Amino acid sequence: MKPTSFKSTCCYCGVGCGVVVTKESNGQLSLEGDKEHPSNKGMLCSKGMNLHYTVMDQSDRLLYPQMRMNRSMPMQRVSWDDALERTAAVFKTFIKKFGPDSVAFYVSGQCLTEEYYLVNKLIKGFIGSNNIDTNSRLCMSSAVMGYKLALGEDSVPVCYDDIEAADVMYVTGANPAWCHPIIWRRIEAHKAANPNVKIICVDPRRTDTARSSDLHLQIIPGTDIVLNHAIGRLLIENGYVDNEFILDHTDGFQAYCEKVMQRTIAEAAELCGVAKADIELAADWIGQSRGFLSFWTMGLNQSVIGVNKNLSLINLHLITGRIGTPGNGPFSLTGQPNAMGGRETGGLANILPGHREVANAAHRREMEDFWGSPVEIGSKPGLTATEMFEALADDKLKAIWIINTNPLVSMPDMNAVESALKKARFVVVQDVSNRADTVHFADVVLPASAWLEKEGTMTNAERRITHLPKVVNAPGEALPDAEIIWRFAAKMGFGDSFNYSSASEVYDEYVKVTAGTSIDVTGVSHAVLQQKRSVQWPFPAEADTFDQKNNNARLFTDHQFYTPNKRAQIHVVDDENRSEPVDEDFPLILTTGRIRDQWHTMTKTGRVARLNKHIPQPFLQIHPTDAAKRNISDGQLVTVRGRRGEVRVKAQVTEDVRPGLCFLPMHWGKILGSNGVRANNITSSLVDPRSKEPDFKFSAVEVSLY
Ligand code: SF4
Repeated sequence: MKPTSFKSTCCYCGVGCGVVVTKESNGQLSLEGDKEHPSNKGMLCSKGMNLHYTVMDQSDRLLYPQMRMNRSMPMQRVSWDDALERTAAVFKTFIKKFGPDSVAFYVSGQCLTEEYYLVNKLIKGFIGSNNIDTNSRLCMSSAVMGYKLALGEDSVPVCYDDIEAADVMYVTGANPAWCHPIIWRRIEAHKAANPNVKIICVDPRRTDTARSSDLHLQIIPGTDIVLNHAIGRLLIENGYVDNEFILDHTDGFQAYCEKVMQRTIAEAAELCGVAKADIELAADWIGQSRGFLSFWTMGLNQSVIGVNKNLSLINLHLITGRIGTPGNGPFSLTGQPNAMGGRETGGLANILPGHREVANAAHRREMEDFWGSPVEIGSKPGLTATEMFEALADDKLKAIWIINTNPLVSMPDMNAVESALKKARFVVVQDVSNRADTVHFADVVLPASAWLEKEGTMTNAERRITHLPKVVNAPGEALPDAEIIWRFAAKMGFGDSFNYSSASEVYDEYVKVTAGTSIDVTGVSHAVLQQKRSVQWPFPAEADTFDQKNNNARLFTDHQFYTPNKRAQIHVVDDENRSEPVDEDFPLILTTGRIRDQWHTMTKTGRVARLNKHIPQPFLQIHPTDAAKRNISDGQLVTVRGRRGEVRVKAQVTEDVRPGLCFLPMHWGKILGSNGVRANNITSSLVDPRSKEPDFKFSAVEVSLY
C-alpha cells in the first residue's frame, strides 16, 4: 500500500494551522505543516508538530462504554445500547420528575461544529432546556460580549493578512509567543522585514512576547481599563481621533470623552504602575500608525471586569476609525480550535444557531420551526459553566453530561467543583482519554473518537472554516461524538429528527439555519471545503462560485456594523477592578496561565515525551522582593494558600513577575501525578456579571515555605 496524505487542521489552539498527515504503508503517521493553508503557510509550533504522536499512542484511550450503578462500585464494561439506554432512562426520569432544567450538557471548544450543533439541537429544541455551556465560557465569553455590545454581533472583524498590513501591534493580556506561536511568528517576520513596525505588550509578567516587544507596559493586574482610557485620552488630546468616522459610524463618543478625561495621565500611570512617558509613547505610536492591530486573550477575558476590559480596548479602534480597513481592528485570539464554530451553532447557554439569541422570541420561533421542536425553546439562558457546578452542589441540577473537557482541572475554585461532582446524582463523561480527571467521578463513561478518527469542521480565529477528514479508525468501540449524540437522541425518542448517517449530513442541515444571517454559510459543505481547502465566513450560497481571494476576509469594510442602527457603540465603562481584595492574610495576587508546550489539562500533550521536556514540572513564579520577605529561595518547595484552597509547588524566584504578583501554570491536575499542584484549587469564584467568565487572573494568596 502506498503512503496516503490527508489535509487536516491542528486541533489545539484557535490559530487553526493546516497540517498534512501522511499515513505510511506500515500504518505509521507522519505530519507536516500545510504550505498551501493560508493560516499558517506551512509553519507549525511544537505542539502541532507532535500532534500525530497523540494519535499513535493509544495507551490511555477509553475503549469501551462503561458504567456503574453507584459510585462505590467499580466500572463495568457494557454495550453502547446498554450505556445509552440507561443514560436515556435516567435523563427521562429526572426530566419527568424535576423538569428539563434538571439535566445539562457541558461541552468543549475542541468539539467539531457538527457535534456542537447536535447537542444544541437536542437539549434546546427537543429536551426543552437551555442548559448547555462550553469551556469556551472560561476563555472567550468576555470577548464575545464585548464584540456584541460594540459591533452588534460576536464577529472578529479582521484576518491574519492584516498582520502584514499593520505597523503597530498592541498585544494586551496575551502571550502569543507561547500560546499562539504561529501568529507570533508572522508578527516577528513582519517586524524583521519592516523595522519601523512597533510591538507594544501589556502584561504584568515579562513573557517571551514582552521580551520581544518594543515597549512593555508591565501593568499592575486589573488596571487594563485605566491604561486603555489613558491612551484614549491621549489620542483625543493629540488629535489622533477620526472625527468623520466617529460622526458617521458610532454612538457614544461624547460620554466616552467625559469619562476618559476624569483621570490625568499621571494618575493613570501611578494606578497602572508604569511610567507616564511609556503610556504617552504607546499612544503616539498608535495615533501615528497606518495599521493598528490589537491582540488579546485571557488577560482581558478571564476577569471579573472582562467585558469592560474588552470594550475599553475596542473603543480605541472606534475613536480612531481603525476597523474594517487593512491592518486595523481588534483581534481576539481564540484559545481553542473550534470555540468560534461552537458559538456559530449556538454553543453557549444564551444563544441559538446562526448567532441567534434565546432571549429573542422571533429567533426562538425560527429555530423551533426549523427543528420541528416538540417543545418551546426557553426564553431564559441556561446554566453557564460555573453555574452548572453550583447547581449540582445545590441539587438543583441532577445530571450532567461532560463532553471532551476536563473541568476537574480547568474550572475555577476546584475544591467546590470536586465536591459538586461528588454530590451530582448522575454524571456522564464522554471523552477520548482515561487521563481526564473527571472520568473518576462518572456513572457512565462513553469512549469518543479522537482527532483524525472522525470527520467534521472547525472555524479558526479568523473565521476560517476547514474540513477535518477521518484518516484512521478509532480504537476499541470508540465512536464519533456526533454519532454518540444522535444515537442517544434516538434512545430519548427523537430518532426521526436525528436520523443522520454522517457528519456531512449534520453540516448540511446546520448551514441552512445560517441563511440570511451575518454568518451565512449556505455555500459551504464538506465537499466545498474539501475542494477549496478552507473558506472564511460569511460564505453564502452564491459565494460558492467565488475565487478564494474574493472571499470576505475582513468584516465592516463599509463601516456598517451589525447593530440595529448599523453604528458601532462606544461604551463608557467603569475602570475599577472588582476582583477579590488582597489583605494582610492574602497580600499577593496570583495569576494563572499556560506554558509553551502544554495544552490545557495535558491529557494529550502530557503524553508526548518531547513536549514534557520543555517544562516538566509545575512552578510558582514569585518576585525576589516577595521571596526575600518570606525567606524563600529559588527551587524551594512552597505552599500557595488562597481563600479556597492551597497547592504545594517549587518556587521560581524571578523578576519576570511584578512585585506583589505570582504566576502558576494551569495545566497540572490532581490525578495526573503532580502532587496536587492544581492551580485552580486557589482561583477566584468571581465571574464577570455579563459574560459569566471567571476571574482566573486575579486571586488573593499568601506564599510560605513548605
Ligand atoms: Fe496548532 Fe496553534 Fe500551534 Fe498552529 S499555533 S500548530 S494551531 S497549537
